[in-house]
Amino acid sequence: MKPVRITLFVIAVSLMVSLACYTTTAPPLYEPETFPENQPTVDQNITPETVVSTVAVQNPPADSTAPTLLYISGTTHIESKPQTWVNVDAYLAFLEQVTALGMKWSIGADIGWLEGEPRAAELIQKSEALGVQWDVHTHNPQDRAKAAYLITQLGGHPNSVVSGMLVSEFDSLAPQTYQGYTWTPQVLWGGVNCPGHRPGCDDHAVGLWIPLSAEQYTTHDPSGQYIRVGGGSHQLADGLALAQTIADGQYPYPVISFTLMVDPVNLTIVNSDDGMAEITAFVNEINQYGFVRWADIEETAQAWVEAGSVPSRIEME
Ligand SMILES: [Zn+2]
Repeated sequence: MKPVRITLFVIAVSLMVSLACYTTTAPPLYEPETFPENQPTVDQNITPETVVSTVAVQNPPADSTAPTLLYISGTTHIESKPQTWVNVDAYLAFLEQVTALGMKWSIGADIGWLEGEPRAAELIQKSEALGVQWDVHTHNPQDRAKAAYLITQLGGHPNSVVSGMLVSEFDSLAPQTYQGYTWTPQVLWGGVNCPGHRPGCDDHAVGLWIPLSAEQYTTHDPSGQYIRVGGGSHQLADGLALAQTIADGQYPYPVISFTLMVDPVNLTIVNSDDGMAEITAFVNEINQYGFVRWADIEETAQAWVEAGSVPSRIEME
């Protein structure tokens, strides 16, 4: 596993101050720094660009000098209904394999699983021992502190990631308290325009920014609080095409995100048949790009802040 690299640039003071006000029980995501001296200048209004996922991947340079770093995370959602629950033994074997490949993984499990899976504590503790993080994924936005609390009761350490939410919920995001336990969101992953994991609802943009509001979700707000990490389409071919686009050189962004997402039942990339063999080939191929970094979703947000909080948003269909 590769630790997120030490600070290159520094943080906007407004973000520092706002984060310093939090009362989360987790350690702060950001450490105070000084002003940047050569922070990249980018228009705060993000201009969407298009990734053509049919780009053929050519032989990438082994030691690319592209200024953009591509942070790749992996994640799995487990819903409340038992038909979506992982087989604990198979899933632990999967996590052992992906982490052995150098990937960083996170899991978001809804309340029904946290309360109903007899082996939830075992999976939480054994996965954390592999370096896996536990995000907060609940379909009821009022359940987030409860989910985080349940994770702690099962021996885990929930992070600050809201793993999936309706864009319309954005304006009501706030710390929540359940049974005296306060959970504070800092990072938003995904973001959908309609509920229920239906086709066409997900925002498949990659990149990171701080949304201004539910209404102006794709406008970067440098004084805002919540960092949106885009996961993209989750498809292996699209990740490789994105890497090639970065290698071709033209993004002015220090950090771009991409997330592989695996179905909890089949342990294949969502909406595909790609399993461990294909994931392994993907890792080996994309590792040839010198700008690839493996990090979980929260670490990706941290790296983005450390690189100057330059907003990036790239459409991926
Ligand atoms: Zn879900």
